[in-house]
Amino acid sequence: MTEGEDGAIPLARPVLGERERELVWSVLRSGRLSLGPLLGQFERAFAARVGAGWGSAVSSGTAGLHLAVRAVGVSDGGELITSPFSFVASANVAVYERARPVFADIDPVTLNLDPAAAAAAVTDRTQAILPVHVFGYPADMAAFERLGLPLVEDACEALGARYEDGGEVGGRGHLAAFGFYANKQLTTAEGGIVTGSEEALKQRLDSERNQGRAPDMDWLDHDRLGFNYRLSDVACALGLAQLERLDSLLAGRARVAALYLDALGDVEGLGLPCAERGQARRGWFVFVVQLPRGVDRDAVVRALAERQIPSKPYFPALHLMSYYRETFAHRPGEFPVCEDVAARSLALPFFPEMTEGQVARVCEALQAVLSTRSVA
Ligand SMILES: *Cc1c(COP(=O)(O)O)cnc(C)c1O
Repeated sequence: MTEGEDGAIPLARPVLGERERELVWSVLRSGRLSLGPLLGQFERAFAARVGAGWGSAVSSGTAGLHLAVRAVGVSDGGELITSPFSFVASANVAVYERARPVFADIDPVTLNLDPAAAAAAVTDRTQAILPVHVFGYPADMAAFERLGLPLVEDACEALGARYEDGGEVGGRGHLAAFGFYANKQLTTAEGGIVTGSEEALKQRLDSERNQGRAPDMDWLDHDRLGFNYRLSDVACALGLAQLERLDSLLAGRARVAALYLDALGDVEGLGLPCAERGQARRGWFVFVVQLPRGVDRDAVVRALAERQIPSKPYFPALHLMSYYRETFAHRPGEFPVCEDVAARSLALPFFPEMTEGQVARVCEALQAVLSTRSVA
């Protein structure tokens, strides 16, 4: 069942089945609901999958990004360079550490942080750069590496993606955070993981997610500030079951993306997700189009909704959100590429089990709506 009784197509929908039920039930029966054996099992299986040295599972993608920026030294009064075209968490984690998120404009093709713009934003207060693999398309990591600063990758949308050199996203050695919210490629309901290569950092993250407890110390001895960012064994059970079916989940998303690309290929003025460069591969997360210039996006959203098709402006520019405008005195016009893209972006329904008929319904509705005068 992928449609509601009213025939509405959901915007996103996880694939959960017998295997998830079986593994979750076995955790419930065991009585070890957290810090049990599935935590390490899930971490090792996930790290192996992306070719990372280790994984440290946490309660959300945001928690993972937070621990990762702390681990590379983002702190009081420093600056973290990141993309203004992202989910708000990638900038918020700098603020959590009383550092300033410094935005730089994006590449108009990949929609990822532009390495040249990031380079121009470096100051003597820059502590790290946080590229986001937006909509699952890998950022140009080789270019960021040449800047010689600590890097944290926001891979929350990019499970299954490959860098331009063919390596798996998450396996490059930098700290990379993945998110497992219900709309992501793999879900644990809520959850996330940080992958990395340096063993000492794994110990630091494992400790900080668990109240700063040192692994070899007594329960009540805490030798550093920590958080409760643990991921339960119930969530890890979901994660292990999802990892077993990850190839088919990713293939399902790629299949739906190909149907969309095929159907929307010649809609005039409509921007589609960029083609893959070199050996780069997108880990399909969402299907976001750029509406033709001059089209009233709100009117398109309303007209699609009347046809039972949900859609969502995605993403709004971070620097223009009221919190960022007011706290950091941002103004329209600072990042023109991001602002243009953000004003035209629309996410369409997208999930692994979406049928050919559903994709056709969305595409026909979008084409019909765009061809009416009411939205122009
Ligand atoms: C999903 C996501 C996150 C993390 O989200 P959580 O809800 O905290 O798991 C971070 N960054 C981006 C770009 C995301 O899409």
